[in-house]
Amino acid sequence: MARRGRTRGAGRSQHPAKKGRRPPGAVRKPIRATPEQFALPETDEGTVLFNVPFPRDAKDLKRMAPIIIRQSYHIDYIHSYGQDSPFFAGLANRKLLGTVCTNCGYKYATPKLHCMECGSECDWFELPQEGRVHTFTVCHYGSEEFLKETPFILALIEFEGVNTLFLARVVGLDPGQASLDWIGRSVKARFRRLSKFKPTDVYFVPVG
Ligand SMILES: [Zn+2]
Repeated sequence: MARRGRTRGAGRSQHPAKKGRRPPGAVRKPIRATPEQFALPETDEGTVLFNVPFPRDAKDLKRMAPIIIRQSYHIDYIHSYGQDSPFFAGLANRKLLGTVCTNCGYKYATPKLHCMECGSECDWFELPQEGRVHTFTVCHYGSEEFLKETPFILALIEFEGVNTLFLARVVGLDPGQASLDWIGRSVKARFRRLSKFKPTDVYFVPVG
């Protein structure tokens, strides 16, 4: 596009008198372009698979091994935490926030706008930062974001006087030494120094 613009601009400067003087009904002259003008720019990107073999006989193509390429994949999401926003504001301030039903008093270790027991509205409250491992699993596989961190320990943490559990990573125990002795173990919350505003901003470490 830029090249075409320059060509037209140069033409105009050579014939300033003709500007805007096309007679009514005149057919606009097609812009002449050589095929090179429409070529896509070459880039340095590509696969490391040089000299892709190609059989002389087209029948042999069916026996060809699959070509496997590497391609990066990235998407930026912009989304709102909406009613859960106070929970993330809490993490950024090194506080764990739960919710409590204003009617029946049911206590959730997670954000809830309304009570799942009675449907009434919930209020926020600050959770204790010490709890116990209710149950756990060792993840040897994970999604792309967490794959390089495997194996890691995911646990459901229980808090005194709170009716539901909180899912978080436990750091400081050896995933290769997983043991039922970990159940009931006291853990305390730690927060990332630089908040990412993600649930993983908080994790738990063994007490003592
Ligand atoms: Zn309730």
